[in-house]
Amino acid sequence: MQSFCIDGVRAFCVHTASAFVRCMLAYDDGWFGKEIPMTTARPVYPFSAIVSQDRLKRALILNAINARIGGVLIRGEKGTAKSTAVRGLARILPHIRVVADCPYGCPPDQPSAMCPSCRARYEVNPDLPVSERATRLVDLPVAASEDRVVGSLDLEHALTEGQRRYEPGLLAQANRGLLYVDEINLLDDHLVDILLDAAAMGINTVEREGISITHPARFILVGTMNPEEGELRPQLLDRFGLVVEIGGIHDVEGRVEVISRRMRYDGDPDGFSKEWLPTEQELAERIVRARALLPMVQITRRDMAAVATLSMELGVDGHRADLAILETARTHAAWAGRTTLAAEDIRVAAELALPHRMRRQPFTEVKLDEARVGEILDRVQSAEGDESAQASADGVKKKTL
Ligand SMILES: [Zn+2]
Repeated sequence: MQSFCIDGVRAFCVHTASAFVRCMLAYDDGWFGKEIPMTTARPVYPFSAIVSQDRLKRALILNAINARIGGVLIRGEKGTAKSTAVRGLARILPHIRVVADCPYGCPPDQPSAMCPSCRARYEVNPDLPVSERATRLVDLPVAASEDRVVGSLDLEHALTEGQRRYEPGLLAQANRGLLYVDEINLLDDHLVDILLDAAAMGINTVEREGISITHPARFILVGTMNPEEGELRPQLLDRFGLVVEIGGIHDVEGRVEVISRRMRYDGDPDGFSKEWLPTEQELAERIVRARALLPMVQITRRDMAAVATLSMELGVDGHRADLAILETARTHAAWAGRTTLAAEDIRVAAELALPHRMRRQPFTEVKLDEARVGEILDRVQSAEGDESAQASADGVKKKTL
């Protein structure tokens, strides 16, 4: 059974995308309002109703399809839809099935992704108690202590009673959800390091005085920052899967649209949300479809060579960028409904995964030359085209000889 939570209305349905539509339609008819009381909470501003900011929306969607991309850092001034976009995204992600009494929300039928306790129980009896809930959005405040983030171990209890007592933290709550850190540049470097480690490994390890606890912590890390308030260290920046620079909208028509939608939403949040429901449901379904297609997307050696050429020619050190581009490109192909990579997938991925990994001189901003990315990819492709034409010509020659 699959359910979705739309503006405080919980809709229970059978399985993913098509059910999503039925839930939405049922909501549309007001059916669920009679069945389950609606909350009075104001609905979240719809993700699809955000004007422009296409790169921001794309980076968030790609991470929602594939958490292995490694999160996204959104850089921009205040009032540029950063937080609205993150909250809007969480609202359209499908509900998940969890082990009902597990603080990490383990998947009930996937032992490899379970915490040690659920796995041990599963081995004895795979019939674990199951419940469903929305994909969580966990806010991590910049003032959070390390214990609050990673969880706390009661050492006194361990020493006196000989048992480990662990209070799970925000990383436990965020497992299988979104972890949102507004103004991440103001967070202690050590904590950013912990978040990036957990996001990359999918686990959180707490070690105190020789006692160690490990639990799953697979989440989509979304950080925002205003560069005017200080930068992140380059070593930390490099470990974010994607980085998006966003700014205000600089054309009159675009700004008018932002104001007009915001006024309509403020005047009648429920009506506005309902108006955007079909677009939101279409987007939610497309994310579900892309997640299902992702494991089928193939990366060829030719794709790898194209990405390696791109990184080398643009002066990117290390291999992290190559891997990040390929993972993002693979996800973009699934989003486009394909199982093979096109040049477009690599171009889009490079725009999101490269700029923060390029060599930079002190006090200078690195900008990705997008025209050059296009040129390099065109050149690599046409060289491949020539090679394959030559190879087939050789084949013909051999046959006629
Ligand atoms: Zn568990």
